[in-house]
Amino acid sequence: MATQMRNDRGEGRDAWILAGIGQLATMDGDVNHGQGAGFRIAAADSLLIADGTIRAIGRAADLTARFPDATVRDAGGRLVTPGLVDAHTHLLYAGHRAYEVGLRAVGKTYLEILGEGGGILATVRATRAADDGEILAATRARLRHALATGTTTVEIKTGYDLTPEGELRLLRLIHQLRQEGPQRVVATFLGAHALPPEYAGNPRGFLQAIAAVHDALRGAADFVDIFCEPGVFELEEARVYLEDAKARGLKLKVHVDELHDAGGAALAAALGAATADHLAHTGAEGIRALAKAGTVAVLLPGTAGYLHQGAMANARAMLAAGVPVAIASDGNPGSSPTSSLSQVMPWAASWLRMTPEEVWVAVTRVGARAVGREGLGRLTVGGPADFVIWDTDDYRMPCYEYGHNFVRAVYIAGRRVAGS
Ligand SMILES: [Zn+2]
Repeated sequence: MATQMRNDRGEGRDAWILAGIGQLATMDGDVNHGQGAGFRIAAADSLLIADGTIRAIGRAADLTARFPDATVRDAGGRLVTPGLVDAHTHLLYAGHRAYEVGLRAVGKTYLEILGEGGGILATVRATRAADDGEILAATRARLRHALATGTTTVEIKTGYDLTPEGELRLLRLIHQLRQEGPQRVVATFLGAHALPPEYAGNPRGFLQAIAAVHDALRGAADFVDIFCEPGVFELEEARVYLEDAKARGLKLKVHVDELHDAGGAALAAALGAATADHLAHTGAEGIRALAKAGTVAVLLPGTAGYLHQGAMANARAMLAAGVPVAIASDGNPGSSPTSSLSQVMPWAASWLRMTPEEVWVAVTRVGARAVGREGLGRLTVGGPADFVIWDTDDYRMPCYEYGHNFVRAVYIAGRRVAGS
C-alpha cells in the first residue's frame, strides 16, 4: 500500500517508488537529431510517483533516502517505457467481418468487396442495427485488449453509421468510453468514411449532409477526418469538406494515398492537417510537402500487410526528410482486425525498415503529438505517470518477436490498470 509522502515541499499524497528498472526508456531525447535520437535510456533506475505524475527520476538509493515513507515496488530489472499511444483506430463498431478472409483469399480486393456492399458497408449495417449497449460492450472488450497489450491512450473514430445523427450517436459513445476510462480516449469524427447506399452516385450531396453537423462538433470532436481515395472521396471533394471543417475551428486528420498516390499527402499539408494517415503510395512530392508543413505521418503497416496489396509507406524517405512518423494499429473490422498497437511494432521494424528506437518513438512520443496530447508518450518529471513494465530487459524484444505480449503491467496516472 502506498503511504503519505513526506518531502520538503509538502506536496503529494500516496507517493510510491518504482525501483529496480532495468532499462528506463524515457523517449525524451532530441528529435532534431532524427526520430531515433528521441529514444533515450535514462541512467536512472527508479521513478517517484505521486498524484498521477512523475515527481522524480533517479537512483533508488537517492529516492528512498529523500522519500523514506514512499512505498517501493520492484520492477525486477525489466524494461519500462511510456504507455503506448495508438493514434489511429476504428474500434467502435458492432459485429465482425471474418467472412471476408475467404473472399480475399480468392482474389477480391478491398475496393471490390466495398463496391459489392461489403466491407465498411457491412459494418455500417451491423452498427446501425445495434443498440448503444451492444456497441459499447464490444468496444470495451477491444479496449481491454488494447490496455493489456500496452496502449494507454487511444484515438477512436466514428464512421460506421454514415448518417449525420448516427455519427453523432457514435461520437457520444466514444465520449462515454472516455468517461469510463481507464484509457485516455481521443475522439475523431469520421462521418465521411464511405459513401452510404442512400447517396450512391452523389458523394457531394452526402458530404454536404455530413458537414451540416460540423458546428455541433466543436468541443465534442478532437479531430475531423475523411477517407480520401479515388473511388471513395476524390481529392477535390475532400478539400471542400475539410475546408469547411477547418473554417469552423476543427482540427484535421486525413486518410490518404492508401491505395493510390492521388496527391492526398500534399492536400493534408496544404490544409495544415495535424496528421496524414496511411500514405502507402505517397511519393517524393507528397513527402516534401509533409516535411515542410510539419504534418505527422501516421503509418499503418499492419493494414498494408493485412491487405497484402503490395505497397508499404516509404518510412525511410519520410524520416530522412524530417517528417515525424507515428505508427498506429488502424484497429478496424476489415483491413486491420486488431486492437493491439504493440503487436504491430515488429511490422513497423520489418516492413517499414524502421529501427527499434524509431519504432518506440513512433508509438509513444510521436503518437502523442499525432493526437494533440504532447505531454503524453514521454517519461519526464512533472509529466503524467502513464507507463508500461515489459517482461523483458531488452527494449528491442517487442520490435523483434511477434505474436507475444511482453506486457507485465500497465499504469495510467500512477495507478495500475492491467497486469501484475
Ligand atoms: Zn483508418
